[in-house]
Amino acid sequence: MPDFDMRTALTIYVLINYVCAYLMAATFKVSKNRFGGVGYFLLHFIFQAVGMTIALMRPAIPQFFSVILANTLMICGVISFTLGAAMFTRRRVSRLPFALYTGVFIAAFLYFTYITPDIQIRILLFSGMLIPIFLYVACILFKPTDATYKEHCGFTGTAALMFAALFLVRVYVTYINGPVADYVNAQSPDAIINMFTTLLTVLLLYSVQHMINGRLLAELELLTDTQSGMLLKMEHLATKDHLTGAYNRRKIEEIIKSEISRYNRREQPLCLILCDIDNFKSINDNFGHDVGDKVITHTIDLITAHKRDTDKAGRWGGEEFIIVCPMTNIEHATAMAERLRNIIESHQPDCTQERQKVTVSFGVAQYVTGSSVESFVKCADKALYRAKQRGRNAVMPSPGSCL
Ligand code: GH3
Ligand code: MG
Ligand code: MG
Repeated sequence: MPDFDMRTALTIYVLINYVCAYLMAATFKVSKNRFGGVGYFLLHFIFQAVGMTIALMRPAIPQFFSVILANTLMICGVISFTLGAAMFTRRRVSRLPFALYTGVFIAAFLYFTYITPDIQIRILLFSGMLIPIFLYVACILFKPTDATYKEHCGFTGTAALMFAALFLVRVYVTYINGPVADYVNAQSPDAIINMFTTLLTVLLLYSVQHMINGRLLAELELLTDTQSGMLLKMEHLATKDHLTGAYNRRKIEEIIKSEISRYNRREQPLCLILCDIDNFKSINDNFGHDVGDKVITHTIDLITAHKRDTDKAGRWGGEEFIIVCPMTNIEHATAMAERLRNIIESHQPDCTQERQKVTVSFGVAQYVTGSSVESFVKCADKALYRAKQRGRNAVMPSPGSCL
């Protein structure tokens, strides 16, 4: 098998890094204001590409650039990735240890370039110092602070682990192989390791994109949940009475309208029961407004608990309630109102301590074709008026047609 051409392999590595940087830049453009760390991921690929480009210019440019600057850029790239991973997972990481680490790296590289030149030690240093950084990246990503995107971070964590393993192999191979004359012109197995580095670079880019997508999806789900929660809340505010939690007047009007449309299609009987608490003013006067409120809630709770499932009850205003009874004629609705009257009379609220009896009067009306919502309710109101006239705590059906 012919040897790999190291220069070609490294050139491919550089080109792949430029492509990765370009793709990462596109992602950065759309998500930079959304989460932290994406800019640092972009820097990683830029530093790798530029660092290796400068390294490849060897021996045409001074060693300071092709060795010191090039390798420092590549180490800084991986550190940049680490900071990106920390910011992305909302972790606080001090930059000082990384600055010191880079300082130690530069000092050692200067020493083994100018004072005791040794390319083998430089490769060992470079690869060896990258292992703990990649392991740290893996630790950050395997344990993100937010569990919602844990699964997506784990993929990038695995890529970082693979990098750490690859550099460990490189340390081992370099150590076994002995002195290297010129890394750029080295032959396999360094070239094979470089090929794997290129593959892992692509994997790293893909895993970062996957991680960002996962985070976006998690945030989208959260937003959808919040929106549906808000919609439910808005619907509650629009249709329910704030004191009792029963349907409000607007919703009850809507229900009456839709039941009238149903009546017009099927002509099945439809009734309304209008209820009004008797002498409620004196309950307020004797016990206070708060007790009055409790009596209102107690009464509608009793009505709601004892009405039929198909009937709809709500608060019409003040201490007045309406029950809409589809498929019910006036005889049945009157009987039902009588049953409710009895229940309310025999279930007195605790708040009045039976010092004043809470009773309710009922007016019942049956819908007739052509009648409007207003005239239908007015009809029940007339019946209610008669019940009040009868001495209260009574049920009265409407005397005539509701037209
Ligand atoms: P009637 O038997 O003829 O119905 O006598 P009433 O005293 O109940 O007379 P009316 O229906 O006119 O009185 C309604 C009173 O209900 C007047 C108002 O102060 C009171 N009210 C209206 N809304 C509320 C409320 O939300 N809470 C309380 N505590 N009182 C209310
Ligand atoms: Mg009233
Ligand atoms: Mg009243």
